[in-house]
Amino acid sequence: MVEYKRTVLYVEDNQLNMALMHHIFKRNLPSVLLLKAETAELGLIMARGNLPDLIILDIGLPGLNGFEALEILQQDEATSHIPVLGTSAFAQATDIEKALNKGFTAYITKPFQVKSFTETVKKLLGGEL
Ligand code: MN
Repeated sequence: MVEYKRTVLYVEDNQLNMALMHHIFKRNLPSVLLLKAETAELGLIMARGNLPDLIILDIGLPGLNGFEALEILQQDEATSHIPVLGTSAFAQATDIEKALNKGFTAYITKPFQVKSFTETVKKLLGGEL
């Protein structure tokens, strides 16, 4: 039985990105449990219920978007301490600046560069994995 050292919640509506993330974690971050939500609404429930060590949050989501979900996470005492890594295909400098100003801990543009993505996640999770 695997003993997970950290838990990460990934909120993403795109199934290909979700599948890619599943493989990145299996291969590069095997000691991290990856929880998955396809909507911000479900992600918020899972964030409160599981208190993950990191949330990876897509900006473009069908109901509440990533910015709105981030605001709710920040307003909730139970989840406001959890670092949130924003992801989106929006890659302009202004998009990145906007995301960081809104309070995302870090921001990564899609498509993911597997190596630098893994490094960023490790850094945000801190310590030995
Ligand atoms: Mn999306």
